[in-house]
Amino acid sequence: MSLLIGFLLIASSLLTIVWIDKNDQDYLRQHQALHDRDLNQMHLIREMLSNRLELWFESFIHLQQRITDNSEATRDFISEEFDYLQLNWQINNLWLFDSQQQVIYANHQYIPDYVKDGAAQTLKNQSSVSQIRCVQSCFQLISMPILSTNGDLMVLTASASLLEMMAALNRSTSAELALVVSPLGIKGASLRDAQIQAPISYIKRQNLDALLKLIPQSITLNMVLDKGYRLVINEQAYLINLLPVDDDITDTAYLLAVHDISEEWASHESYQFGVITISAIVVALCALTFFLMAERLRRRLLILAKRLPLLAQKKYDEFNDMKFKHSLMFLDEIDEVQRSTNLLGEQLEAMDGKIEQNTRELENIAMYDRLTGLPNRNMLNFILRKKIAALARTPKPLVVILLDFDNFRKINDSYGHGVGDEFLMVAAQRLRSSLRESDVISRFGGDEFVIVLQEVDDVSNAITLAEKLVIKFREPVEIGAQRFYTSVSLGITTCEGQNLTVDDLVRQADIAMYAAKDAGGDRYSMFNEGMSTKVMRRIEIEHDVRDALLDEQFKFALQAQIEISTGKLIGFEALIRWLHPKNGYIMPDEFIPIMENSESMITLGYWGIKRAFKILAHLESLGFSGYRVAVNLSASQFLDPNLINFMREQLAQSEQGAEQVELELTERTVVADIEQTLRKMHELKELGFTFSIDDFGTGYSSLAYLSQLPVDIIKIDRSFIAGMSGNSADKQIVKSTVAMVRKLGMKVVAEGVETAEQLSMLKEMRCDVAQGYYISKPIFEDDLYQALPTKLDDGVWNKLDLQF
Ligand code: C2E
Ligand code: CA
Ligand code: CA
Repeated sequence: MSLLIGFLLIASSLLTIVWIDKNDQDYLRQHQALHDRDLNQMHLIREMLSNRLELWFESFIHLQQRITDNSEATRDFISEEFDYLQLNWQINNLWLFDSQQQVIYANHQYIPDYVKDGAAQTLKNQSSVSQIRCVQSCFQLISMPILSTNGDLMVLTASASLLEMMAALNRSTSAELALVVSPLGIKGASLRDAQIQAPISYIKRQNLDALLKLIPQSITLNMVLDKGYRLVINEQAYLINLLPVDDDITDTAYLLAVHDISEEWASHESYQFGVITISAIVVALCALTFFLMAERLRRRLLILAKRLPLLAQKKYDEFNDMKFKHSLMFLDEIDEVQRSTNLLGEQLEAMDGKIEQNTRELENIAMYDRLTGLPNRNMLNFILRKKIAALARTPKPLVVILLDFDNFRKINDSYGHGVGDEFLMVAAQRLRSSLRESDVISRFGGDEFVIVLQEVDDVSNAITLAEKLVIKFREPVEIGAQRFYTSVSLGITTCEGQNLTVDDLVRQADIAMYAAKDAGGDRYSMFNEGMSTKVMRRIEIEHDVRDALLDEQFKFALQAQIEISTGKLIGFEALIRWLHPKNGYIMPDEFIPIMENSESMITLGYWGIKRAFKILAHLESLGFSGYRVAVNLSASQFLDPNLINFMREQLAQSEQGAEQVELELTERTVVADIEQTLRKMHELKELGFTFSIDDFGTGYSSLAYLSQLPVDIIKIDRSFIAGMSGNSADKQIVKSTVAMVRKLGMKVVAEGVETAEQLSMLKEMRCDVAQGYYISKPIFEDDLYQALPTKLDDGVWNKLDLQF
């Protein structure tokens, strides 16, 4: 807006300047006209003067015949003529000089110097000299050569007043006139230094002098000659023109014409003042209208600017309440924008409502399980968070139970997902009906359900409920005609204001549930911190074992087996060790059960078999040939389809015989899939490998059963050996086992022999082989290669008291 007003101001100023300039020019033109008129008058005067001169000449020529010499007659004659001339030609003075410049006649005693000079100049040039002189008044002067009757050169000088002429000029110009003389005679001289010789008009000399003194020094004669000069004092304005009186004669004398132009000046000034005032008023009015118009626009735009953010903030009521100002006359663009804004507001409001409704529906979907209609994991998180927060206000504990079906996968895999889903629906109903209304039950995922107990007086209540649920789910689930027998494992955890998060609670219940599963399922288990560290360790091991295989962090320790009757070394059992880069040595009991059933267990198993062949080769290279290395095979490894091929490859690559490699299987491995086991054992047996049954006595299989398999060796579990003292039951078991095994044509190895007493008892029982700390602890491969030469004495494992 200020820009617009600025523009307006500039435009009107320009217009004003143009008007004023035009007016100025008119004004100046007026002055120029005055100046020109003065000049014309001056020309007129000049013409008159030159006419007079011509007349004078004519009248003087006839005088020549009567002028003789410096005689009285001549003087009388001139005197007579002077009267005539004075009357007819306005000649005021007359002088006659002879060739020696002696005055012959003068009508006046006083002869000014310039008259004498003029005469001298005339004599010298022998031509007439004309000049205008102003002394008190101005007059025209002419000196001309005259030849006397007796042939002498004389000078006749006449002067005539210019007063009359000036008066005539004064009348015709209506200006105040004065003759001025510039003392310097240069046109560059200042006007104010000019001297007034004679005022012609009625103006007083002093007034004229005072006027001249007001002219600035910088105003030169030249300037004034050209255009005149305008002088303004006290509301009075004068135009001062300077007119050269006669260019030929002199330029020191000028006619000064002072015109009183006060009236024109006043009207010029008032015109300019009027123009400026009008344009200022116009600017002010325009600015005001602009401001008023723009202000309304601005206010309307401001309202719009305030309304629009309300849409973004979803304050629709406020948006609708804020009323818009319409244009005063006709609809303009802002009205249009406003209309669109209102439309936008309406649509946004409608859309927002719809979004809100959809969000509620989505929340419903997101919070409840579609299959069972129970709250889902999201909802559980939400509820648990609230309950944990509420713990601060109640002394009662919060109980979280995680329930998992023991064989749901089997149902799903065998009968399909449709049946699985129905099973879950029925199970969910059964669960719901077993709980109080206030308890929360949610489907956590798959076949896992989480129960949150509210207001439990004592944790024992939770245990009672868990027991009840275990029993309740032993009853079969009926789907149509089908009956599904199932069982559940429950993990229970409680929280009494400890700083636990939802995730912590669910994780604890999960750990406890896995403990129940580990213990065989169909039971509940209460969470304790020990479980947690076990699980942590388990997770750590599962994670690290992959790197361990790549980095070859596994090593074998070899434990010697000796023939009891002779004390001779017959071979070693290879026992795995994990050299963990951070945790040091980890024993197999810690990581084998975790790795069991995983791909890495099989990889590790193959590594072990390969290593066994290498050990045999190395022993042979050291000169210890004919020994046997026993390798433990995990159940999954034994069932691996690649096993037979792998063994064949090893045999082909190695110089060692298959009979040197003993494969240890546990009873559990053997009974897992008896048909496959049998087939595999026979195939391996055909390749030449020997089989031993590890940990015998801990399983349920009988010797009679095992003897039907191609087994060569039975290893009696060390728990029996450890229990063999005095006349114990274990001693009897070992004794009869040894006897039976021998009878069935197999060999017996006693594991865990720790004392000389045990060894001597075993010897008495005619047990074939002994293995145990008493004979040797497992020794790392590299250490064994070094120690072996010192350990053996003619094949007998020394440093043992076997003399019994
Ligand atoms: P296992 O096959 O029964 O191995 C014998 C275990 O008894 C070894 O424990 C051995 O150090 C220990 N032992 C030997 N003599 C005595 C003794 O006089 N007293 C006592 N108390 N213990 C004795 P280790 O090395 O911890 O191995 C534990 C189990 O880990 C093994 O039991 C075996 O089932 C498994 N295992 C070891 N290495 C391998 C392997 O390479 N592959 C597989 N699949 N399992 C392995
Ligand atoms: Ca073993
Ligand atoms: Ca064993």
